[in-house]
Amino acid sequence: MAPERKEFDLYTFVAGVALETGRPFALECNCGGVVTIMPPFQDEYVICPRCESKIKMLVIEGDPGYVIGADPDGTPRLLPVQGSSKPHPDKLPPGERDVILARIREQLAVKGR
Ligand SMILES: [Zn+2]
Repeated sequence: MAPERKEFDLYTFVAGVALETGRPFALECNCGGVVTIMPPFQDEYVICPRCESKIKMLVIEGDPGYVIGADPDGTPRLLPVQGSSKPHPDKLPPGERDVILARIREQLAVKGR
């Protein structure tokens, strides 16, 4: 990949439903700082009041509790979606999380051929 100018410090996923309720919600930065998002939300990014990171919000339609991402080594992992009413992926029962991750690995294995 060609190097790009760094436009944002962080990316976070936000449930579309959180922006549709018209109620403010708290967006958590990786540093633990919290940005309160006040609707109507029009900007595509927010600034963390604590570490001043520029956080780009990637809105995921609906109310998913997580999206599928990967570590740099390709290990699949579940990334939390903020503002969702679903539990944080870290709070899923370990059995359930393992099942999801196993399914992803299977899909990746199929795709890789
Ligand atoms: Zn921060």
